[in-house]
Amino acid sequence: MATDTVYDLAVIGGGPTGLTAAIYAARAEISTVVLEKAIAGGQIQNTMAVENYPGFPEISGAELAERFHEHAKKFGAQVRTATVQGITHDGYLTLNTDTGAIHARAVLIATGAHWKRMGVPGEEEYIGRGVSSCAVCDGFFYRDKEVVVVGGGDSAVEEGMYLTRFARKVTIIHRRAALRAQKILQERAKANPKITFQWNSVVKEVLGNGTSVTGVRIANVLDGSETDLPADGVFVYIGMRPNTSFVQNTVELDPEGFVKADCCFRTNVPGVFAAGDVRSGAWRQIITVAAEGALAVREIEYFLAEEQLTEAEELWRSRRGEATRM
Ligand code: NAP
Repeated sequence: MATDTVYDLAVIGGGPTGLTAAIYAARAEISTVVLEKAIAGGQIQNTMAVENYPGFPEISGAELAERFHEHAKKFGAQVRTATVQGITHDGYLTLNTDTGAIHARAVLIATGAHWKRMGVPGEEEYIGRGVSSCAVCDGFFYRDKEVVVVGGGDSAVEEGMYLTRFARKVTIIHRRAALRAQKILQERAKANPKITFQWNSVVKEVLGNGTSVTGVRIANVLDGSETDLPADGVFVYIGMRPNTSFVQNTVELDPEGFVKADCCFRTNVPGVFAAGDVRSGAWRQIITVAAEGALAVREIEYFLAEEQLTEAEELWRSRRGEATRM
């Protein structure tokens, strides 16, 4: 049993879900700590322009993240830098982190997801030397150069458009002949003279000269033919993988590794909740994952209230000499 501080709620992850949860929890006077391994804000830190967060017709991801962060701190949530390595249960829930143990009555897993890799030769070798998944971080290096973007979802199309600010040519390589991205983004990309599409194609290899990327070898999925496309940069946006390795033996995960949670954001472990990008089945938009943070806190409040009732009932029974409930 823990003898030092026990928070009502420990939120793992300082992205839109975790910070929204912190705002709602702190305003409900639930003692809350948010643990973030890098900088608060999560993936949106890397988004150049957010256009679909109500109230902000256009705001950079970094600024929105900073506003979430400041907002959570204003209401008293503690935001700490720590990497959580695992969760154990010993009366209270204990988070084992690289900066020591943290105890809480409830835990919200809001660790989000990271970019998937293609898993082709040359990809790992040229990360940071031409292969990237952050147009905002690296786009600047491709002024007047040619880049390829892999993927057909919102990220590939949005980031491809962003890259046209710098690159003279952006080729979007997609494995089908129809994009998955929202129609408005598709129309903008198709109207952009710097963007061309390589349909029904997959990257087989990232090509380089030992120092930097020189192109990609692509294969047409319909006839198997292979072509080398020259490129100075390769931006990979083929979806996300969940950040769940630290709980893979603790909570139930779906086959892709996302945390399984019920409609009340409860995992299979009592007191452990999951919300946002990391949750199996989540719709991964800033507005929806932020809302999940708020909804999860409502369920956590019920959980904490029930726990208190149970504790009070057990105390009352023990004072009367009755057996305690299990
Ligand atoms: P996504 O929607 O999962 O799209 C991934 C894309 O990569 C798909 O087009 C998929 O092809 C392709 N792909 C997957 N595995 C591949 C592989 N091994 N090789 C080649 N291509 C592969 O991922 P996302 O674009 O990162 O978006 C993630 C979530 O964030 C979505 O819910 C999206 O709506 C949201 N998002 C929203 C915004 C916004 O609202 N402004 C911006 C960015 C992201 P198929 O189409 O054939 O499956």
